[in-house]
Amino acid sequence: MKIIACVKRVIDYNVRVQINRDGDGVVTDGVKMSMNPFDEIAVEEGLRLKEKGVATELIAVSIGGSESQQQLRTALAMGADRAILVENDAPLIPLGAAHILLRIIEKEQPGLVILGKQAIDDDRNQTGQMLAALWGRPQATFASALEINGEKASVTREIDAGMETIEVDLPAVVTTDLRLNEPRFVKMPDIMKAKRKTLDVIAAASLDLPSIPNVVTSNFSPPPTREAGIKVESVEQLVDVMKTRGLI
Ligand code: AMP
Repeated sequence: MKIIACVKRVIDYNVRVQINRDGDGVVTDGVKMSMNPFDEIAVEEGLRLKEKGVATELIAVSIGGSESQQQLRTALAMGADRAILVENDAPLIPLGAAHILLRIIEKEQPGLVILGKQAIDDDRNQTGQMLAALWGRPQATFASALEINGEKASVTREIDAGMETIEVDLPAVVTTDLRLNEPRFVKMPDIMKAKRKTLDVIAAASLDLPSIPNVVTSNFSPPPTREAGIKVESVEQLVDVMKTRGLI
């Protein structure tokens, strides 16, 4: 069984994101970019399934500018067998990403496609669900445990009421939650080895994609600045302050 793991290039989660001067985007020049953390978990899960002998090949797929090759090389250094970059510089909403991923699925015929539950740049949490719908295959979102039993995947999901385990027929789409696994560190020799692995670049324009209405972000604004807190000496004082502020 082939597995596809999706890899999006995003601003590193340690970076304090700044809004640009025009207020129509965020500053990316000179900013550290990384693999979306939930996608690192997707790659790790694919690798573990390969190591268990469940999967035969792990393919990392990214959609973006040529600089997304960096994140694909990281996935290859982690252990993915090969990578595909669908080069696309146009603005992309989750429905557009799902259509592109569907084209790759049609070509590669994977048994499982693993995505992050959300990309931390736009926090959309839509691509996996839309992909499953377009592909006409089951989806198991927010996975915190995954087991493959023959033609089925058993997926544990954290929900408000506790842990829910569902079974889906393969091929299927699974999206990762934080607790699914802890991604491995990449070692220097693996980085060197990754340079020799196959990374195919396909132009999005060559994929015969449907036209999709775009979503235009009209404005970005920073969250309101937080007021400085105060220190209280006693519980009584805390209660007084809360009363004066109408909190209790
Ligand atoms: P989103 O729906 O935008 O929050 O993204 C959810 C997941 O879809 C991400 O964690 C990725 O696994 C996948 N995805 C979204 N956009 C891309 C992209 N441009 N390239 C590769 N994977 C993507």
